[in-house]
Amino acid sequence: MKYISTNKESAAVTFNEAILNGLANDGGLYVPESIPKLSQKFWSQIAQSSFQDIAESILTPYVSDQWNKEILHSVTTKAFNFKAPLVALDDHTYIMELFHGPTLAFKDFGARFLASSFEKIAANKRINILVATSGDTGSAVAQGFKDAKHVSVHLLYPSGKVSQLQEQQLTTAGGNVNALEINGTFDDCQRLVKEAFNDSELRESMILSSANSINIARLLPQSLYYVYALAQFKQQHSDNPVISVPSGNMGNVTGGLIAQKMGMPVDQFIIATNINDVVPEYLRKGIFQPRKSQRTIANAMDVGDPSNLARIQHLFNHSIDEMRALLKGFAFTDDETKNAIKKVYNKTGYILDPHTAIGYLASQEYRRVNNKPDQSVMVMATAHPAKFKDIVEPIINDEIPLPPALQRCMEKEKQSILMEPSYPQFKSYLMQQILEKEITDN
Ligand SMILES: *Cc1c(COP(=O)(O)O)cnc(C)c1O
Repeated sequence: MKYISTNKESAAVTFNEAILNGLANDGGLYVPESIPKLSQKFWSQIAQSSFQDIAESILTPYVSDQWNKEILHSVTTKAFNFKAPLVALDDHTYIMELFHGPTLAFKDFGARFLASSFEKIAANKRINILVATSGDTGSAVAQGFKDAKHVSVHLLYPSGKVSQLQEQQLTTAGGNVNALEINGTFDDCQRLVKEAFNDSELRESMILSSANSINIARLLPQSLYYVYALAQFKQQHSDNPVISVPSGNMGNVTGGLIAQKMGMPVDQFIIATNINDVVPEYLRKGIFQPRKSQRTIANAMDVGDPSNLARIQHLFNHSIDEMRALLKGFAFTDDETKNAIKKVYNKTGYILDPHTAIGYLASQEYRRVNNKPDQSVMVMATAHPAKFKDIVEPIINDEIPLPPALQRCMEKEKQSILMEPSYPQFKSYLMQQILEKEITDN
């Protein structure tokens, strides 16, 4: 399988090249040049498949040019070492818990797969990964890449501008993961990373790569849990579910759409957003109008110009009618979200995080407007409620215990390198790394 750019101006590349490049030269996002359909037999026996079976069947066509079975098996078993249960909320509503990885959010699937992919690709050379983060992506990358061989990670985050929990996750991974605490803004962090990528002298001395959410190796594994959710659903149901996805940058839902194009039986996808509703609006009006994002309590979805929309448009040959047939969009305010968390907790005892609550609200709204009260829906639960305890605890008026992994992370000592937002300083730090690594690698 080759990978092409959504802007169509760069040459097609291999899977490994697409991972290392991150973004295509023409500024587009990599997509597989075709989406193969899996056999009818695979789909009809899905209820008997394990996560590993699914991972290998779904990913093989995308990686087999370069990775043999053993490599794929070792990458997936290392990356997906946590559970992903489908939990029934009532007879028709299921919550797909994607938050049992180290940073308690679905981004662990992509970040861990990317980390173990880099480890395989790097082999005898050292790859330096630069990431500018405003919090969440960086913590998934820090925890995902910890202990990856041949890979050094340099995370830049704005000092004092990430939550305490995020900062702990960013700064306690240790070893090959370095946290640079920049005395500036997120934009400063991004600028420093960009300058490094444009610095030809630096790039001659070290291999630089990124771990952005747009990397193809973060996207493809996000198909797997849709199929695994279906496998669990089909153990009890013969109908096909609707799937509701709390969405911001649209990477999560794009993973689901790829699975659907591979033949996964799904009725429809719901794109559930907070008031940053550019995609639901696009589906309604047929015109895409990006705008500045607004802050909400579901802040991982505060995105005003979702980059993965380019991939969605590509998957549907830019046909808005085809998109509308499979995708429905709904948006909700913070007040509606808070009410949903409270109502579900009071009724069932289940605690939704603010993002998942939006997915839940959308499932209700879908049933109402389509007059299908008994429609089965799977809601993708993107984060553990403990991750947003400051918001959720006052709503449910109860305490949410921290899962043990997070508790341990909170107790570790923060280790960061303070730095001014100055490129010469950042560059000399990176050059210093080369010297030190040469000593330790030899
Ligand atoms: C990143 C994130 C989202 C949004 O996912 P996209 O792939 O950007 O659409 C939703 N919920 C949580 C908790 C997230 O971390």
